[in-house]
Amino acid sequence: MTHITPPRPVDLVAVFPELTRLARTATRLHPRPGTPSVHDSSIGGPLLWPASEPWPHCHAEDHDAERLPSISLADARLERRIRAARNSEGREYTTEEREILDRMEERPATDGPIAMLPVAQLYVRDVPGLHPPEGADLLQVLWCPYEHDDDGMPKTALFWRSAAAITDVLVDPPEPAEYEQDLVPEPCMIDPEQVIEYPKSGELEGELRQRVDQWTMAQIPGVEFDGLEDDDQPYDLLCIAPGWKIGGWISWNMQDPYPNPCPTCGTPTEPLLTIASREWEMNGRHWVPYEDQAADILWGAVQGGPSSPTQICVSDVNNQIIRICPTSHEHPHIQMMQ
Ligand SMILES: [Zn+2]
Ligand SMILES: [Zn+2]
Repeated sequence: MTHITPPRPVDLVAVFPELTRLARTATRLHPRPGTPSVHDSSIGGPLLWPASEPWPHCHAEDHDAERLPSISLADARLERRIRAARNSEGREYTTEEREILDRMEERPATDGPIAMLPVAQLYVRDVPGLHPPEGADLLQVLWCPYEHDDDGMPKTALFWRSAAAITDVLVDPPEPAEYEQDLVPEPCMIDPEQVIEYPKSGELEGELRQRVDQWTMAQIPGVEFDGLEDDDQPYDLLCIAPGWKIGGWISWNMQDPYPNPCPTCGTPTEPLLTIASREWEMNGRHWVPYEDQAADILWGAVQGGPSSPTQICVSDVNNQIIRICPTSHEHPHIQMMQ
């Protein structure tokens, strides 16, 4: 299944030619629920992990939620599917569904380290825009499925690997005994697509910034965005692709743009992976791939519908952005929420 983003309803470069030099290519990942294997690129799927290497665990003690008993991840995902079926069909649980839900057993809460959870596995062959260290062709991202007090986000860990070097694959990785349900991704296949992005208005300067700020819906008759009136500014809805992606520009939604220097060498970091709570917003439906448009109209913004295939919800429907240092893969990554 391919996913193709329609062209923007307005060509930004035709209106603001200076944007040409600021264009960046981003790779939309287009995650959709599926059954990926360790040999597939995936979101929330199994990792090609060497059996000889310890599985990463989070030893932090600032988990921003009480650690409560949880059902297994498999049951959590089954529960989601049952709930989604009930919601989409607008009915009560069937007797059989109720029995399945009643059989789900909670495991006792623990206070030990938390096994990290696969978030993304991206093979360079599938995903343009990844720039691996020499010899690597696979990026793996895991997280601890809790918000942490220090930055309000799940802690992430990144691994670059050579897939060919992994001959003995771990078949039964540990899973977290407890977790925040909203931070457990539904296993998804991906279908990467490259799109062009321009900076958010907050990152523009001088006369260009002024012209962008003065550009309103009234100047693009015939183009509609949910909830936008003639006086409103459409630029920020057109410049950056929503959803999971590699590279591109940062969609500053919560803060004004600020520099994110590498903690080791001070070089400005660059966005690597955007982990998104939504693939698009209701006022940005022009980003919905052609293939999803009919289903999107049918489902609307329902959790688990076309706009939330991974069922991830970072904090208050935000994006978590992983940034890396362009000078060295050895330097630690940083993360931010927008
Ligand atoms: Zn943790
Ligand atoms: Zn650095």
